[in-house]
Amino acid sequence: MVKYDVLIIGAGIVGLSTAYHLKMLDPKLNVIVVEKKSSPGQGETGKAPGGFRLDVWTSKTNLSLGRSSIMFYRHIQEDLKIDLGMKWVGYLFMMDNGLYETAKPALNKMDSMGVKYRIYSKEDLARNLNVNVNVLDEEAKSMNLRNIDVGLMFPNAGYWRQENMVKFYEMEFIRMNGKILYNTFTSRIITGPRIEFNIPNEPHIWQEVIAKGALTDKGFIEANEIVVAASAWAPQILDSIGIDCHFKPKKRQVFIVKANTEPLKQVMFAKGFNKLNAAPFLFIYVRGESWLWMKPDIGELAYWIGCSDHLGRAYGVVEDDPPAEENFYKYGIYQVLVKYFPQFINVYPSNSHAGYYDISIDGLPIVHKESNITVVGGTSGNGLSKADALGRITAATCLNREYAELYGGEKFKVSDLSIVNRNIDKEIFII
Ligand SMILES: Cc1cc2nc3c(=O)[nH]c(=O)nc-3n(C[C@H](O)[C@H](O)[C@H](O)COP(=O)(O)OP(=O)(O)OC[C@H]3O[C@@H](n4cnc5c(N)ncnc54)[C@H](O)[C@@H]3O)c2cc1C
Repeated sequence: MVKYDVLIIGAGIVGLSTAYHLKMLDPKLNVIVVEKKSSPGQGETGKAPGGFRLDVWTSKTNLSLGRSSIMFYRHIQEDLKIDLGMKWVGYLFMMDNGLYETAKPALNKMDSMGVKYRIYSKEDLARNLNVNVNVLDEEAKSMNLRNIDVGLMFPNAGYWRQENMVKFYEMEFIRMNGKILYNTFTSRIITGPRIEFNIPNEPHIWQEVIAKGALTDKGFIEANEIVVAASAWAPQILDSIGIDCHFKPKKRQVFIVKANTEPLKQVMFAKGFNKLNAAPFLFIYVRGESWLWMKPDIGELAYWIGCSDHLGRAYGVVEDDPPAEENFYKYGIYQVLVKYFPQFINVYPSNSHAGYYDISIDGLPIVHKESNITVVGGTSGNGLSKADALGRITAATCLNREYAELYGGEKFKVSDLSIVNRNIDKEIFII
């Protein structure tokens, strides 16, 4: 039986980025990826609308991860001429003066980190985007909605086709003799003593315990190192061997509305925000930490719409591909959306789906090693924007290196994302 140097569980963007960077660091490594789905990027990666942000962060840690990853993707697109469909439309956050005031500390921090943004007045927004900035009728008041006074526009952001980047990692990994098994479900990681004495009930308290490999529905796969890149499903795999990964899944929903009326197209092709003459990725403040977000996709001529809910929404994976909830749109999103964009009145989604965010303790990703098991996850809804850096950090962690080199040359201390020696700069601009 082959014993692999590294076994990676999960062929999402993070698992495949890790696989690619392991081979880049050491081409001789014998690396295998196992994935329960029939093709790559069908988990969280395939559910996301593909928003990316290079520098829309207040956390220095996020800035390092986001900037280096997006610059790498840009390099792939512009220098290697691989079309990732990157559209630099920007992110536009719309809010009232009250929220703008409370966002000032975050903006000051962004200023100090050199993050670029522009401010739009409500008149600009109403004119360029056809958004209703004065929403406060009696109904809107009873819904706790707010007028729009200010727009914060971050140009170094947009959306892309993440599946093309996933394909890049997969193909390059295979070209470097990496192996991928699709349709292969890992039921558990098998642990045992590093040194076996063949006595009953090993391992005993005096023995060092390591992972020996993983039990899959295609048989046992033996490996020296295991990387768990299974996002929402990681707790299922890790709880049973006593590793607390410190992130949990929570359902998130996406509704797709076709822009097949003139008013909806007008919003989509809004002028005055970017060179593409397209509406930015839009965010309207709702309440608490909830923003209604909307990706106006000029390629598909469709809006991808969603909003995170918090208290009352359970943690945990109930089913692999959960359906979106019709009433979440009908009585939730729709009611808010039409106040700001009456263009959506009587327009309903042609499609919808749901997935999971893997939410970490502090909103930043986790790369943690226990014995010979490296866990990566906790990407909390923005992992596409950081996946390249996370792959580099996970690969370096797996190979017991102290630092990972991010794209652009920054040396990142890998233990900074661990659970035990965590040393992160907290994000205060949470979407
Ligand atoms: C609705 C939604 C919107 C989002 N929007 C954005 C966005 O706009 N921008 C952004 O940057 N991020 C966004 N995200 C987050 C982003 O999608 C994730 O952070 C990222 O895809 C995580 O990648 P991953 O490889 O860790 O996870 P995944 O893509 O989920 O990969 C994990 C893989 O492991 C496999 N797996 C799990 N268990 C097993 C097992 N037992 N055996 C074998 N295989 C297994 C799964 O099938 C899956 O393919 C969004 C997520 C969702 C759900």
